[in-house]
Amino acid sequence: MLIVQKFGGTSVANTERIKSVAARVAKYHAKGDQIVVVVSAMSGVTDGLIKLAKEIMPLPSEREMDVLLATGEQTTIALTAIALHALGLPAASLTGAQAGIVTDGVHTKAKIQNITPRKIHELLNADKVVIVAGFQGQTREGQITTLGRGGSDLTAIALAAALKANLCQIYTDVDGVYTADPRLVPTARKLTEISYDEMLELASLGAKVMQSRSVEFAKKFGVVFEVRSSLNDNPGTIVKEETKGMEDVVIRGVSLDKNQAKMTLVGVPDRPGIAASIFKSLADGAINVDMIVQNASHGSETPATDLSFTVDRADLLKAGKIIDELRSSIGIRDVVAAEKMGKLSIVGVGMRSHSGVAAKMFDTLAQAGINIEMISTSEIKISVVIELSKAEPAMRAVHAAFLG
Ligand code: ASP
Ligand code: MG
Repeated sequence: MLIVQKFGGTSVANTERIKSVAARVAKYHAKGDQIVVVVSAMSGVTDGLIKLAKEIMPLPSEREMDVLLATGEQTTIALTAIALHALGLPAASLTGAQAGIVTDGVHTKAKIQNITPRKIHELLNADKVVIVAGFQGQTREGQITTLGRGGSDLTAIALAAALKANLCQIYTDVDGVYTADPRLVPTARKLTEISYDEMLELASLGAKVMQSRSVEFAKKFGVVFEVRSSLNDNPGTIVKEETKGMEDVVIRGVSLDKNQAKMTLVGVPDRPGIAASIFKSLADGAINVDMIVQNASHGSETPATDLSFTVDRADLLKAGKIIDELRSSIGIRDVVAAEKMGKLSIVGVGMRSHSGVAAKMFDTLAQAGINIEMISTSEIKISVVIELSKAEPAMRAVHAAFLG
């Protein structure tokens, strides 16, 4: 079998951890498997390098940032190869460029254009374990690039696709994907499987297990992978295309984003172009607006409406300034900000075929005395915005109602 194994920053945090990665790889190698290992930088290293550059200037050249950040993964590939040599295993490290990973030229967030894994095949055929630096590639012109934060996941998934690997394992510091964050919900369970779409929803909702782009890539190319722990031998969670049986489960997971803030514009003139100008100004200020709710219009001569939206809490002040600048020109009567909000979501492909899911969620919250301030839904997700102080008990109540 050809196996791609990816180890994240915490799994290679120090030489002890790197030795235990090598021991795990050795076990698979002893079974006769061909192994391609992808590693991240040791945990904290990428952040540390960014900090160094910013001590010199606030906005360093992105080309130089890529040259700098790529050293993090280059350190780990060499140390991992050395750890394998120490166990008597033949192993060789490759940078992204050496592994044949070609990207576009968008420094610090390059996209993989294609992979020519000739060197990898050569080494595998010579019975070597191949260790590839995650997160990096090179342009056709030979410039070093990086794939955006968390990009080692993408390297692993893309290599698994290019090599037609039989197995792709993403090793991390958790046992897999859970029905909810076990630190917040003690009854949360590890899932044996989850569909790409559910995984994507949970990741974008704050359950940060993997870089979202890598899951999108896996979906596009049908790469089945397993998220599992580098600290034990427990089976993890298989992430794959939706199968028939998956719809039998109504809800796969519950997630909570504690970083929301809400802004309500009271008495906004209700005429064409107003929403466009408000949200254009916010977008120009690089503010990511998540949920938007507009109420029914009131007043007949000069109809007005109330408009609420959510942003990341860190963006609230900036959003407030932008709205203040518009306020008199548009004629907004009042602006109310709520700083501490949470977004609670339930996700599951089973929602498509089960009715009454939203009603059950709202009823559960009502019985817990929790007021819902905003609601949004998609095909496989229902989200509500609630007061942050009630968010954790709300999460536990909803998890208990759907997942026990
Ligand atoms: N070292 C890079 C980062 O911290 C890539 C990765 O860890 O996946 O973002
Ligand atoms: Mg990482």
